[in-house]
Amino acid sequence: MTNRIVIVGNGMAGTRLAGELSARGGDGRVTVLGAEPHRAYNRIMLSTLLTGAIGEPDMRLAEVAGHGVDLRTGVCVTAIDRRDRAVRTDRGDQIHYDHLVLATGGRAVVPPLTGLTGGELPERVVAFRTLDDCRRILAVADRAHRVLVLGGGLLGLEAARGLAGRGLEVTVVHPVPYLMERQLDPAAAAVLARTLAGLGVTTRLAVPATAVVAGPRGVRLELADGRSLAADLLVLACGIRPDTALATAAGLAVRRGVLVDDQLRTNDQRISAIGDCAQHGDALTGLVAPAWAQARVLAQVLSGADPSARYRPKPVVTRLKTAGIDLAAMGDPGEGPGEELTFTDPAGGTYARLRINHERVTAAILLGDNPSVGTVIQLFDRGQPVPSDRRSLLLGRALSPGSAEPATTPALMPAAATVCHCNNVNKGALVESWRSGARTVDEVVAETRAGTGCGSCRDAVAGIVEWLSTVESVEVGR
Ligand SMILES: Cc1cc2nc3c(=O)[nH]c(=O)nc-3n(C[C@H](O)[C@H](O)[C@H](O)COP(=O)(O)OP(=O)(O)OC[C@H]3O[C@@H](n4cnc5c(N)ncnc54)[C@H](O)[C@@H]3O)c2cc1C
Repeated sequence: MTNRIVIVGNGMAGTRLAGELSARGGDGRVTVLGAEPHRAYNRIMLSTLLTGAIGEPDMRLAEVAGHGVDLRTGVCVTAIDRRDRAVRTDRGDQIHYDHLVLATGGRAVVPPLTGLTGGELPERVVAFRTLDDCRRILAVADRAHRVLVLGGGLLGLEAARGLAGRGLEVTVVHPVPYLMERQLDPAAAAVLARTLAGLGVTTRLAVPATAVVAGPRGVRLELADGRSLAADLLVLACGIRPDTALATAAGLAVRRGVLVDDQLRTNDQRISAIGDCAQHGDALTGLVAPAWAQARVLAQVLSGADPSARYRPKPVVTRLKTAGIDLAAMGDPGEGPGEELTFTDPAGGTYARLRINHERVTAAILLGDNPSVGTVIQLFDRGQPVPSDRRSLLLGRALSPGSAEPATTPALMPAAATVCHCNNVNKGALVESWRSGARTVDEVVAETRAGTGCGSCRDAVAGIVEWLSTVESVEVGR
């Protein structure tokens, strides 16, 4: 292993890398420097923490810094000295490295509105990214009745749903004419807005905000149409910007993120970047699955276990993880070649759209109860041909006799079917862990890490464990 590895950032990517390096052993030393004062936590679960369904202890990340890892929390790296190969911290330390890894993540975007440009945000205005942000939101929410959420993307809607679930009156303000425009089309977004309304979330669309007036008693959001909305709390969910300040100051190549190659190296061979701060090709990731895949590849390279390992991005599936709304979106929702199949039932809160090109799913939006969602994701993920009776995918209904049935039960799932997208764990790996002695969901999760990311696959993992306990011998690869 490279002798002294220094990781800047104790978030989802940095922690995973430290865990992977520690698990591989070696005689190198790993130092993790994290600006946040807490032990590493699962940032993804902050939206669930807002709902009250879990508490802070449930947010701990599975891996804790292990043998040979020197973890320092509450320490901010202030500069990189590339010539001396050292980083400086806000505590006045200088720490030398043989290899430096930037895992600095991203920061919540604060829109340049009048009233928000003074640096520190007013007390009743919170940008949503960290555990401290979440604590601030909950502290104000405890005494609040009305909440405004600025931003109708994934993060904004998860925050809105969580706060509405606490009995607050929530309004989402979004400058675009429809919600989640990066993942949805207008028809799907209209069904989603209707479902949200039923859950206590009002939406104000196609109207930019112009100013924020915040005082000790409340906050007012001024809108471009001349109206204004008053509330007790304003949550900003206006996007994430990669934290590239250190890299830029050190003269590394940065575009939107820190530019990295297939081995996650920057233009300085002794410095790598992973996670939300990194840009691989044209892509910023912004999700945990690619961040953890990058951490794994980098650990293989730095530990010498596989010096030629390469990061290969996978297609992204977006899921809204909030009670009362089932939403999965994948591929580009815009126009594209091939067949287009849609089904809409706004009153039932259901919308399905599939784009199929050369017998492959190239994009899909599935909103509401649709039993075939798992099958569609598998087909998209693995680029497999779709069944000839498309209705099964669109409606999740039974197929006509003689056609291939979607794999809705564990027994019919192929071994290569991905169950946990965050950790890239397939059914075969779960079966293997069962064979090697894991008998409960917790044991299987501990061994494979399945379900430790966004948690949306926990039911599927439990279903597979239950199925395994009922079959005497399991044929992997069916
Ligand atoms: C509420 C919420 C819900 C989300 N839901 C999902 C989801 O459902 N699915 C999904 O895939 N992704 C989701 N994400 C995104 C996911 O959390 C990120 O992709 C992931 O956290 C990226 O990991 P990272 O380590 O790159 O960045 P982070 O987890 O942000 O960690 C970066 C760390 O680096 C530290 N740092 C920065 N600069 C310095 C410095 N100079 N010195 C020391 N430390 C520094 C920061 O303080 C931070 O702790 C969600 C994010 C949020 C906020």
